Amino acid sequence: MSSSRPPLLALDDALQRLLAAARTLADPESVSTFDADGRVLAQDLVSELHVPPQDNSSMDGYAVASADLSRTGTVLTVTQRIAAGTSGQPLHSGQAARIFTGAPIPPGADAVVMQEDCQTVGEPTDGAPALVRINAVPAPGQWIRRAGEDVTRSSVVLARGARLSPPSLGLAAGIGFDRLSVVRRPRVALFSTGDELVMPGAVAPADMPPGAIYNSNRYFLRAMLLRLGCEVSDLGIVPDKRQATLDALRSAASQHDLILTSGGVSVGEEDHIRPAVMALGALDLWQIAMKPGKPFAYGHVGPCHFIGLPGNPVSSFVTFAVLVRPFLLRLQGASELAATASLARADFDWPRPDGRREFLRVRRNGGGGLDLFANQSSGVLTSAVWGDGLVDNPSGTAIGRGDQVRYLAFADLLS
Ligand code: AMP
Ligand code: MG
Repeated sequence: MSSSRPPLLALDDALQRLLAAARTLADPESVSTFDADGRVLAQDLVSELHVPPQDNSSMDGYAVASADLSRTGTVLTVTQRIAAGTSGQPLHSGQAARIFTGAPIPPGADAVVMQEDCQTVGEPTDGAPALVRINAVPAPGQWIRRAGEDVTRSSVVLARGARLSPPSLGLAAGIGFDRLSVVRRPRVALFSTGDELVMPGAVAPADMPPGAIYNSNRYFLRAMLLRLGCEVSDLGIVPDKRQATLDALRSAASQHDLILTSGGVSVGEEDHIRPAVMALGALDLWQIAMKPGKPFAYGHVGPCHFIGLPGNPVSSFVTFAVLVRPFLLRLQGASELAATASLARADFDWPRPDGRREFLRVRRNGGGGLDLFANQSSGVLTSAVWGDGLVDNPSGTAIGRGDQVRYLAFADLLS
């Protein structure tokens, strides 16, 4: 046997190849703004109005002309009362308007004095206007929310490609959108491979045959797909026959945008999905310079993408997070694909780094640093449950206590 192996593919190159193959799904759909959380906008949202529409009060108090109030204790005549949802009349010199939070500032007023700084003078008697003593000297503009300070008319409030979050739904509603045009959900078919796999529920733990393990990947992969806005068809474990595999793949390919599998991409693996994909379309096996998660397959069956993840649970989890997640976001036309890493202090030593880029399971501690999970094996899913993120460690880089490292939070990688 030759000892020369093909060079490993750099993770960034693998990601570029994947992203280059992903086109934004056509045919956007219109959904209720209520149901648009997590979806990617297929349109620019342009505001037809200012938000807020007019200058309005941010306090309960009195609207005044600051020019009337050069000293404290000035007494003004209260000529009107303006509640939220109503509008006032022009204010003249010597006058004040009783005003409430959210109510429009009347013409002639340029400041609001909060009611705690005001005192009504005497008892209001029939017919006679009430008086108010202003015990503060307001600065012009005080306690006024300016028209358009949130959104200005004609501006793009949310751009195509924005992934909608709860506050962005509020903002969209705030400029009058009750429906939004979003990219449709990617349809993903999920297959498992491996004769050792048993579905939990099918066989009790005490009755597991030798060599059998429960299929854990299917559970977290499905959950990660759902969090990324996909429609998932869980097609289970493919029958152990060539023709059945071809049929299953052909029918999945006609109804999905992506077929995702885990397992069976290692060298020398004996599963049928790989040769069947090659027979129906094309498949490249990549050896990516990353740990965990070296073997990875990308191809297609007709127009349907095919991605094969490694079987080891942590490898599957990490390759999904750093490769499949951006790929699925690109299919949805999202403008932000990569999770943002932050710098954090390592509170651990990592003296023997791998030659491949590593993704270490870590957890933030109360002191603002990162602790390392003791067992970094690619089969130990506990590391990803204990941890709250990954250290993205460049190849061959030893880490010493106190070093700054690149930290990727699961909160970002899983949403
Ligand atoms: P493979 O990539 O198929 O060589 O699998 C590598 C390791 O991951 C083996 O120990 C498999 O038993 C395990 N594995 C593969 N698929 C799954 C799965 N769906 N759930 C849990 N472990 C798996
Ligand atoms: Mg296998």
